[in-house]
This record gives sequence, structure tokens and C-alpha cells, in this order.
Amino acid sequence: MQKGKIGVTSDNLFPIIKKFLYSDHDIFLREIISNAVDATQKLRTLASKGEYSGDLSNAKVSVKIDKEAKTITVSDSGIGMTAEEIEKFINQIAFSGAEEFLEKYKDDANAIIGHFGLGFYSSFMVSGQVDIISKSYREGATAIRWECDGSPEYMLEESERAEVGTDVIMHLNADSEEFLEKSRISGILNKYCKFLQVPVVFGKKTTWKDGKEVDTDEDNQINDIAPAWTKKPVDLNDEDYSNFYRQLYPMGEEPLFNIHLNVDYPFNLTGILYFPKLKNTIEVQKNKIQLYSNQVFVTDSVEGIVPEFLTLLHGVLDSPDIPLNVSRSYLQNDSNVKKISSHITKKVSDRLAQIFKDKREDFESKWDDLRIFIEYGMLTEEKFYEKALNFFLFKNVDGKYFTMEEYETLIKGEQTDKDKNLVYLYTNNPEEQFSFVQAAKNKGYDVLVMNNVLTTPLINHLEQKFSNKRFVRVDSDVAEHLIAKEEPKHELSWEEKNELSPIFKAVCPENKDYGFIVDFKDLGENSNPMVVTRNEFMRRMKDMSQMQGGGGMSFYGDLPESLNLVVNTSHPLVKQIFEERDTVLGEDLKKIKDEIQAKTKEKDKVDKAKKDKKEEEIPSEVKEKSEELDKSISALKDEQKDKLSSFGKDNKLAKQLVDLALLANGMLKGEDLDKFVKRSFEMIK
Ligand code: ADP
Repeated sequence: MQKGKIGVTSDNLFPIIKKFLYSDHDIFLREIISNAVDATQKLRTLASKGEYSGDLSNAKVSVKIDKEAKTITVSDSGIGMTAEEIEKFINQIAFSGAEEFLEKYKDDANAIIGHFGLGFYSSFMVSGQVDIISKSYREGATAIRWECDGSPEYMLEESERAEVGTDVIMHLNADSEEFLEKSRISGILNKYCKFLQVPVVFGKKTTWKDGKEVDTDEDNQINDIAPAWTKKPVDLNDEDYSNFYRQLYPMGEEPLFNIHLNVDYPFNLTGILYFPKLKNTIEVQKNKIQLYSNQVFVTDSVEGIVPEFLTLLHGVLDSPDIPLNVSRSYLQNDSNVKKISSHITKKVSDRLAQIFKDKREDFESKWDDLRIFIEYGMLTEEKFYEKALNFFLFKNVDGKYFTMEEYETLIKGEQTDKDKNLVYLYTNNPEEQFSFVQAAKNKGYDVLVMNNVLTTPLINHLEQKFSNKRFVRVDSDVAEHLIAKEEPKHELSWEEKNELSPIFKAVCPENKDYGFIVDFKDLGENSNPMVVTRNEFMRRMKDMSQMQGGGGMSFYGDLPESLNLVVNTSHPLVKQIFEERDTVLGEDLKKIKDEIQAKTKEKDKVDKAKKDKKEEEIPSEVKEKSEELDKSISALKDEQKDKLSSFGKDNKLAKQLVDLALLANGMLKGEDLDKFVKRSFEMIK
């Protein structure tokens, strides 16, 4: 028997392991099992070179729990270790700069384990004592037993083991007895070991007999040693891909498409990515992409390795070239990782382009689900954006799909404005904006449906890319003005508008969330008498500020929404209101107007007298006169406004027309709606 001290430069490694690795306890099993798998693979390699003649056809790794002894044992029939090898591989954990490194990565167990090759020692996170019983494959090797209780001292002696291979026996410490539970170990195995290359067996398969769960004779192999991604795409059919998806996510809904990655230059990368079926919004991801290194599960947080928009995909990636056991910040700056990331982007866009080309119908039928990924990609990855221009689809209100190019051809004739801009009309809610959509269609325009969370950023992005394209929501103006064709027709003068707006302002609903601006336009006799629109720019700013939740844009978010009430000056019903106003208020208004005119003239005269004089040179009676005139002019204007307002308030027709415009926008609700209905009955009577 030999006793010795484990060679570490740091005085005592175990407290460090225990302390820093606390959060990631589960990985001890992955580390021990990975070693066992490696040892088996090594022996296979030797056998294939003729350096070992034993039978390896049943080679497996087995995991056993002994509840009484409170141990977990991992056994393999791999290469084994001689006493010298134990000395070299297990006892000498030689490293330099250990303390600084540990300090730097103290929160990142993976980094520490990977950096030092501490895989085996992670067993001390959960064990008070670990034994190794091993027999090397070498001719005439004797079995040895190594034992260590977590202090730097170890014990090494000769032992018995019939077959070549290694047992690692972990005597769990009091804090770690949870790992004696079958379900706990099953959970870990299922997470980390599901696709290891050597069969991993955990007890026997069970069956139900007489109301009890009993063992069968069959080994409970927990892994699939040849998962789909390790096979060649030509050897797989649709069903294989779909089965593999179910293997990864038993509860997942059938995915839309898959992409099989298979690269060996300039780096190694295999994997299968799936486009899952998502709803309109970006859901919080339950099923994530899993990252493997030679079939050993490493992580399912792939941020930094996969471009952000692809983190929404499902599936697996496997690469021995991604430095897996380092910190996240290191990963993000690693040039290999960057290459891999851009390669994945390219593969994904190529595949989408190909599906679009080969099976457009299929692609279209899945577009509504696919769209959010593509838009997200277009917004965040320039390279993807460029490729996506070829398969990004617009969908119009009739459910037809167009590529960018096709759509441009379709609308060029009717939807080019006087400044040669191509105007894309869209609705985010075809039902609520029905009358706007209809009005636009009646003008011969086509209307797109764009209604997901990324719509506003996407159209901002497209407008930036194409200086001659503009996106306009159908409810942002009356149809006649959505696309500015020629110079506007004769409109009312500012003064005329001023004398009319109080009438309609008086019948606009009062609301804290939005205010109304009354405008007058000649929309033609056949258009609606009044239309409520919302300014495209303001609305988009509000949308963006809502998405960003405060920050620089919050100014727009806080503003009450301003809506335009557009009054169609050539509509007969509107004209009728104008006429009524003349009959009811004509005399009064004329009097007030004349008076305003007279006072204004007088004031002009007084002001002329003031002109070119210094303040102190103006006689005080002149100043007083000027002020007095100002006051009476503004009093007259107020009077004029009041008269118009109260005329408006009493005018049922005006009220009815405003309500109809609101109704067409789905904005007439509650008490206002009730009043409208009652008023309508009265008016029909
Ligand atoms: P790493 O696996 O990163 O090299 P470990 O501390 O896990 O670091 O293991 C150190 C070495 O011990 C391994 O490289 C291997 O040579 C040897 N070893 C560990 N476990 C086994 C085993 N089950 N069978 C044979 N050799 C083993």
C-alpha cells in the first residue's frame, strides 16, 4: 500500500472546488461518465489498431446507486489505469496561476473544471470519499485501488478486478444524499448523457406487475448512441427528423422546417435546427437549442454562439471546436465562435431560400408562423437581411403572398406618389380598419396585413434601406390622401377653418387618452362625410416607445394620442351643417365679424402711431387704447367661438356624423354608443 499527497500548487483544492462549484453540482455525473466514455473510446481505438484483442462489442458504462452504502458507482470497460497512470493523471493536478484563475472564474464552474481538467475531481462536490478500482488493458496489469477522502492525502494499493476497466465509487456526503434517489439520477442522465457514444445503463427497465413497478431483465439504456444529427442527411427522411424532434422535446408541437448542419471545414460542426411553431408573439422559450461537444451535453444557453434571432429555434448543435468550458464573455470574443455563428446564419438563410424556391406553396402555408423569425433576423443580422430579401413575403388582406419584387411590380402603377415614392399601405387589423381598407381598395390600392410585434421596427428598417419606399397605415389618413398624387385641390382658408372647427370640436368626445384636431378636406361627394385618422409618424413613435419601455422615446409614449377628425367639405350632409350655421348664426356671426374687423382696423392705426417710437416716447393713453382694443378683439373672438360651439353642441347631425366616423374605427363605446343608438332612432322617426 502506498500513501501520498496529491500534487496541487494551491494548498488545498477541495474546499475551492466545493465552494465555487456549489451551484452546478449536477455536472459531477457528466464528468465521471464522460471519462468512462472516453476510456471506452480509447480502448476501441486501440482495438481497431490491433493493439488490444479483447471483445468490446458489449462495452457499456453503468451507473448504480447503493442506498445502504450511500454510494454511486460508475463502471466502464474502458482502457483502465495502471498505478503509474493514476499517479500521473489523477494525483498530479499541476497547474500554474491557479489562484488568480479561480478568483477570476469563481462563478463559472464549467470554466474552472475545463481549464484544469478537474473533471474527475468534481466528484468531490458531492462525495466525502471517492474510490477508483481500475485494471489497465495492458498485458499483465494488476488491478489497483485508489482512495481519497477529500483531503490532499490519498491511498493506493493493489486490488482485484476481473475485467479490464474502471469503477469510480462515490461515497456521498450528508448534503448530497438526494443523489441516491433514482429519479434525481435519471433526470441528470437524461439531461447530460442522452446522446453519449457508448451505451450508458442505469439499472433495469421496469414494468408494472400486480400494481407494483418491478425490474425486468433488460438493461435500462438511457442514451441513443447514434442520434440523427450524427448521421448523413441523405440517410434520413422527414419522419426521422420529426422523430428526433420528439426525442429532444417530447411535448413539442410538430416543427415547421429543419436544417441539418454538417460542416468539417474550417471547423467541425454538426447539428439539426428546427423552426418551431410559434404564435404571433415571441413566446418565452421552454425548449431551447442544446449544445453538445462530441455528443456530451454542455449547455442549453447558446447566446453568443448562435446569432440572437436563431436562439428562438430548437434543436442541437455539436462542435468539439467551440471552447465549451470557458466563460461566456470569452466565448463571445472567440473568433471560432464568430465564424460558427456567421456560418449558421448563412446555412439557415440558404436553406430557407431553397425551400422557398423548391416548395413555394409549402413555404407560403407556413409563412405566418415563420415570419417572426425572419423579421427578427432581418432586423438583427445584416447578412441575413440581405439574403432574406429574396424570400421575405408580404401578405395582403386577400391572403395572397408576394416577394418584395413581385409586390413592387404589383403596386408600382397605382401606388407611386408625386415624389416617385412607392407607398406600401398596410393594416394591423383588417377587421377594425375595415372601412379604411375598403376605401383604399376602392381607389385601386392594395393593402398589406402587417400585425406582429416587429412590424413597426421592420418598416422603419425597410424605409431606411430603401429611400424611395414608404409605409403608411390605412387609417393614418383618408384614402384620397394616403398617397399624395398631385397638388391638393382648393382647400378652405385658415380663417374659414377657424370659423368652422369649434362646431365639430364641440361634438368630439372628451377623453384623457386622445385629443382631436379638426381638419377640413375636399374628399369628394361620394366619400364619407367625416373620417377619424391617426397620424402615421406619431403612432409609430408611440409604438416604438412602448416596445422599448421608456428610454429616449418615452416622450412620445407619454403624449396623449392625437387623432384627426377630417371633415369632408364637399359632402352634402356637411354642407347642410354649414348652411344651418348660416341660417341660425349668420346674422350674429356677421355682426361679430364686422366688429372684429372694425376693431382690428382701429388697432392697426394705433399701432402705426406707436411704430418707430421708443417705449418711453409713447403716450400712456395710446398704450391703454391698444391694450383695450386687444382685449375686446379677443373677447369678440371668444364670443364667436362660444356661439359656434354651442351651435355645434345642439346640432344632432354633426354629433351623428362624428359618432359614425368613430364607429367606423371601433372607437364608439359604452355610454356614447348607447346615446348614438337612441339618437339614431329619434332621427329616423
Ligand atoms: P480530463 O478528463 O479533462 O482529462 P479528469 O480529471 O476528468 O480530466 O481525468 C484525468 C485523466 O484521468 C483522464 O484524462 C484519463 O486519462 C484518466 N481517467 C479518468 N477517468 C478514467 C477512467 N474511467 N478510465 C480511464 N482513465 C480515466
